[in-house]
Amino acid sequence: MPVPRHILIIEDDAALRATLAEQILSGGEFSADEAESAAEAEAKLASAGARYDAILLDVGLPDADGREFCAKLRRDGRRMPVIMVTGADAEQDVIRGLDSGANDYLAKPYRLPELLARVRAQLRMFDNSEDATFLIGPYVFRPSLRLLQEAVRNRKIRLTDKECAILKFLYRAGGKAVARQSLMSEVWGYNSAMTTHTLETHVYRLRQKLEADPGEPRLLLTEYGGYKLDATVFEVASR
Ligand code: CA
Repeated sequence: MPVPRHILIIEDDAALRATLAEQILSGGEFSADEAESAAEAEAKLASAGARYDAILLDVGLPDADGREFCAKLRRDGRRMPVIMVTGADAEQDVIRGLDSGANDYLAKPYRLPELLARVRAQLRMFDNSEDATFLIGPYVFRPSLRLLQEAVRNRKIRLTDKECAILKFLYRAGGKAVARQSLMSEVWGYNSAMTTHTLETHVYRLRQKLEADPGEPRLLLTEYGGYKLDATVFEVASR
């Protein structure tokens, strides 16, 4: 199973917030946390271990203008997609919303499938950007830095380009098995004359880097005809 993407809903209308959270959770694709004010959102973002993949932000909050809040998030160095939601759909507001660093802008009333489609689109773009990070077991995977960071043990593991590409492709498969041939086409290109042995060698090296016991892998698993990544296993024993 893929790790659900964690969404922070910042909305002061309690009924709307509850409906949103419930619907966002229903597909299993997302998990959600809620804040009813800018102050509460700030506290959640600052709490230890907090990690949000995207933010849904109401413009009209009791203690702040959502656009100013968004601008502050960016000043604080937070790069995750922010989708702003508002009752005000005047063009000027749209421009101000996007100027403040929001990635997208949706006027109430909106249809939930449209909102989710926009969240997905923003996450896809973000995942391909320099700022993307993915959780893989005990590691934070930063493809742009070619790095796996294990916060608990303050350890950094350097990866090669190919190792990064393999991990990224397996991660995107969301826990499903990927055939060796698809993996090779993705990572080395369709015209490559390489053999499966090359792929196996890369997988072997990757396991040496990220598995507690490379002989008994728990994250990067061999499946009939291919491989899969179980990003949800956190109990990778130290070695
Ligand atoms: Ca509001």
